[in-house]
Amino acid sequence: MDLLDTLTAKGLRGETPTREEALAVLATTDDELLDVVAAAGRVRRRWFGRRVKLNYLVNLKSGLCPEDCSYCSQRLGSKAEILKYTWLKPGQAAEAAKAGVSGGAKRVCLVASGRGPTDRDIDRVTDTVAAIKEADPAVEICACLGLLSDNQAERLKAAGVDAYNHNLNTSEGTYGDIATTHTYADRVDTVQKAHGAGLSACSGLIAGMGESDEDLVDVVFALRELGSDSVPVNFLIPFEGTPLAKEWNLSPQRCLRILAMVRFVNPDTEVRIAGGREVHLRSMQPLGLHLANSIFLGDYLTSEGQAGQTDLDMIADAGFEVEGMGESTLPRHRADIAAAATGGCGTGAAGGGCGTAAGSVEGADADAAVGGGCGTGGGCGPCGGHGHAVPAATVGAADDKAADEVRTDLVRVRRRGAGTELAPNA
Ligand code: SF4
Repeated sequence: MDLLDTLTAKGLRGETPTREEALAVLATTDDELLDVVAAAGRVRRRWFGRRVKLNYLVNLKSGLCPEDCSYCSQRLGSKAEILKYTWLKPGQAAEAAKAGVSGGAKRVCLVASGRGPTDRDIDRVTDTVAAIKEADPAVEICACLGLLSDNQAERLKAAGVDAYNHNLNTSEGTYGDIATTHTYADRVDTVQKAHGAGLSACSGLIAGMGESDEDLVDVVFALRELGSDSVPVNFLIPFEGTPLAKEWNLSPQRCLRILAMVRFVNPDTEVRIAGGREVHLRSMQPLGLHLANSIFLGDYLTSEGQAGQTDLDMIADAGFEVEGMGESTLPRHRADIAAAATGGCGTGAAGGGCGTAAGSVEGADADAAVGGGCGTGGGCGPCGGHGHAVPAATVGAADDKAADEVRTDLVRVRRRGAGTELAPNA
């Protein structure tokens, strides 16, 4: 297939495809799917080998957000029966983070719901970062706290935060359909503030909200131009009690095509499968590892993921290996660019805001979309809301076209870990 030969050659050179080529990836057929995965997999292995970076979410503050991101279970007016709590104490957050690091995560993503942090909130996060790094100085920390005001990114950098997550989520043209309490430009501004302060930029998208192929390509190229070091790809988890509860628009094949397109456009950037992995890729998750080089371990912000050990087993069974704490995530040339931007040390550093290790930002949005607030979901990180243990037969009928119904059988609300008395799933 000429298209795939062209895309592979470009990816191996670290070049991005044209917009038309990216659209063509999304238009490939199911008969061509394994060829698409194989082609994008060559690009993934060129820059990231068989390493898989593990990230771990800690939801510092859950629910009760005044923003109206339609994909988010923590939004204004959400009727989703998620955990709601205010700021975890530094010791509680450090305890939660320890579970993820013990499970193999090299990055901890600290996420808080809300429009953006107050200066007092920055103090709280500063104390939390100190508590986590006291236990393990090498762990990378990504903050996902919403829209940043002047000087807040600099304060986070000084506190030892390595990266900041704030997702663009969807195209500029459709952003107003997803949220009205802030704008696409607000989001771009926060990513730029973070980057300008020397934090590694983590910014991604949410697929499955009813967007067109053109919207997906628009946002992925925008993320490339923004210089995101890490691109979390969230697949919408339609949460009961949110406006998008009936938007079941994704199939495993569609998710793989989206991941392949994101990889071709960002050949040498960390691409993370964020919220929605279990719900939408299901038994095809191992194929996703051939495209993305990063995933979340365990639960999401407001929903549960599959067992951490299941993630580790999947990685090993598929012939991949967990990226170590001292290993560089980004390839050398990207790490050096990131280090120059952040004033860090480039390829070697694993934490400390230095190039290579920096990853992404889960995206408050990522998970939020998927469940929660920031990072991965929407506004904030990987809100993820996937369920775990989803019966394949049940799920199968939900895809390809909107099921037009709420699927409480597929989305399991998080009831353990941070903010509860129960042990986390890491
Ligand atoms: S994504 Fe973030 S800002 Fe948007 S409603 Fe959810 S918690 Fe609030």
